[in-house]
Amino acid sequence: MSVRAEQYTAEVLGRVQLSPHLIRLTLGGPGLAGFTSTGIPDEWVGLIVPGQYQSRYYTVRSWSGGELVLDVVVHEVGLVTEWALGAFGDPVGQQVTITEPKGSFLKPADAGWLLLVGDLTAMPAMARIAETHADLPVHLYAEVPDRPEELASYLPAGAQVSWDAPEEHGSRLAEVVETLEWPEGAGYFWMAGESAQMRAIRKHLMRVRRMPSTHYDVMGYWRAVKERQPRAVDPGPIWRAGKAAGKSDEEIWADYDQARTEAGS
Ligand SMILES: Cc1cc2nc3c(=O)[nH]c(=O)nc-3n(C[C@H](O)[C@H](O)[C@H](O)COP(=O)(O)OP(=O)(O)OC[C@H]3O[C@@H](n4cnc5c(N)ncnc54)[C@H](O)[C@@H]3O)c2cc1C
Repeated sequence: MSVRAEQYTAEVLGRVQLSPHLIRLTLGGPGLAGFTSTGIPDEWVGLIVPGQYQSRYYTVRSWSGGELVLDVVVHEVGLVTEWALGAFGDPVGQQVTITEPKGSFLKPADAGWLLLVGDLTAMPAMARIAETHADLPVHLYAEVPDRPEELASYLPAGAQVSWDAPEEHGSRLAEVVETLEWPEGAGYFWMAGESAQMRAIRKHLMRVRRMPSTHYDVMGYWRAVKERQPRAVDPGPIWRAGKAAGKSDEEIWADYDQARTEAGS
């Protein structure tokens, strides 16, 4: 017997551009009444945007007063990216689906420090982990395309952060971790970002640092594809034409998928 995971319908109540590549979405409404946070600071949910059936994962930046906050990285092309950028109309007022939250962060009892490393997609989790562990020395290493001053207030005051930007060909987080100076004694290492970088780091932690697996958590959050994928079809005109013709969101997404298939993208 397969048991379907709980899903919740939520309304997008707000959309705020936090930095050039980070958009905050506030979700709410009666459909979230049964939502319960796991309390795990890197917890995530699946987000399904209107007219789609595929989900993308987003960290619960906060859940308070019946409002769920997700911070979405917008990159070149992507299902949620384009929707969040407004290619299918203003997301505010639209209905999305959220899946049950899950978390992974599990700090061992003897951890005397936290070392958090990630790219922009990991910032929501790193901020929440830092907020909930003010009792420990926490050092963050963030590889972000935006300027540090544009993101400084995103992290709790007093957080020790090293900032870096990705290189033109992509993330170099694995190389950074291989040359890190590690704090003394037992601690917990948490890292998330591009999957190939994360695979390299898992190997490094196991084979070079010989860390017990209880003392680190490394997660691939997204996968870079080798070829660049230029947006072959602009969704804006399709959305406007669909709306003008009185089509539903589902019908407009189907038109968009059809146009992409025809364009070979
Ligand atoms: C547990 C977990 C928690 C996550 N939390 C967050 C979060 O809080 N905020 C957040 O923004 N993301 C988060 N992510 C990552 C997010 O799910 C992916 O980046 C997702 O692919 C974005 O969906 P999309 O629809 O924009 O792009 P997709 O349609 O999935 O991808 C389209 C293309 O974009 C590329 N791509 C995908 N993500 C990126 C990126 N970040 N930078 C550059 N290129 C990319 C892919 O290679 C693909 O070719 C999390 C992932 C996991 C597993």
